[in-house]
Amino acid sequence: MRTTSITIHPDALMHNLKVIKKKLNPNTKVLAMVKADAYGHGIDATVPALIHADGFGVACLSEAMAVKQVLDSRNVKKPIVLIEGAFSLDEWKVAVEHDFGCLIHHQNQLAWALAHQPKQDQCCHTIWLKYNTGMSRLGFNDDQIILAAKSLTDAGYRLILTSHFACADDKTHPLNALQISKFDQALARIRAFAPDTLGSLCNSAGIFNFKDHHHDWVRAGIALYGSKPVADQSAKALNLMPAMTLSAQVMAIHTLAAGDSIGYSALWAAQKPHKIAVVSIGYGDGYPRVVMGAKVSVSDTLGNRHLCDIIGRVAMDMFMIDIDGLDIAIDAPVVLWGDSPTIDEVALCAGTIGYELMCRLTTRPKRCIMDAYPPNKES
Ligand SMILES: *Cc1c(COP(=O)(O)O)cnc(C)c1O
Repeated sequence: MRTTSITIHPDALMHNLKVIKKKLNPNTKVLAMVKADAYGHGIDATVPALIHADGFGVACLSEAMAVKQVLDSRNVKKPIVLIEGAFSLDEWKVAVEHDFGCLIHHQNQLAWALAHQPKQDQCCHTIWLKYNTGMSRLGFNDDQIILAAKSLTDAGYRLILTSHFACADDKTHPLNALQISKFDQALARIRAFAPDTLGSLCNSAGIFNFKDHHHDWVRAGIALYGSKPVADQSAKALNLMPAMTLSAQVMAIHTLAAGDSIGYSALWAAQKPHKIAVVSIGYGDGYPRVVMGAKVSVSDTLGNRHLCDIIGRVAMDMFMIDIDGLDIAIDAPVVLWGDSPTIDEVALCAGTIGYELMCRLTTRPKRCIMDAYPPNKES
């Protein structure tokens, strides 16, 4: 059987949440970002492990429903926030019906919220109001943000002013200071007429790089999954553990003669007799075809692990690795990313970031969950 698989480690997710919480002052809450099927880890596998987060952030209504189903099955009630808000008036009404928290970044959404209000005691009675402080993606600009806040608070809504960093991974980037100062000023102006307004500015990178600017809610994504949030430190150096292992196996072994080439386009040829192995994973599983200089970890017959080079081109179902001089057997386990190599090391070889590699895994690898989930009550 082809045993290409994605293994999720709940203990790592729990550990990373604790590491993040330790960075925060005790009043700051964590919105665990589980959009895009929990960054490819799977909502069902991830949400139970992050049950002690203060809420869950998703990109759209269907993702919110999936999170709600998991929380309901464990009898847990926590805010679920549509971090891009409703995409139509009908969606707004459904979100209110299910009591999903909603972000408002645009005049249309503001009109829907003013026209169809939830009850005072509903979670969705708190609006995540998005302010564009420099990302120029979503949010009200300087000239509209105070007016938008005023119309919502006049209508009785409670607010969480929110904004998103463009360059938080690089703490020296000048845009950070500008975004922070705009955010602080707008928050102060809104609090002048709505004193119970909360703030939410930081993603994972902001949590680690801007610890004086955590405000009331942080929105943690990539750090929960154990990939590096900041440019100048590895995940390991930040005490983050990989929540996913992508693995496959050796399915054939050959000794090439000098001059034999391998794979599509014959990109690599043996200079001398050379032992290679074929590994049961390819871009059809979501492993990037474009990698240059990536390594995989292979276990030898004694169970010792070795980092081996990928040679030749990655194909849809397979690629080849250099195992010359090693005692590797058919069926030997191969780790593509996990503890070693890390997803960040592979991402670097693929010209991308850990986020993308996690999210673009296909449905072909078998999915499994490593071990137990925490109880609902925090101990
Ligand atoms: C995805 C997302 C986050 C989380 O970002 P990370 O870099 O993964 O921590 C935070 N805020 C918003 C608005 C997002 O869309």
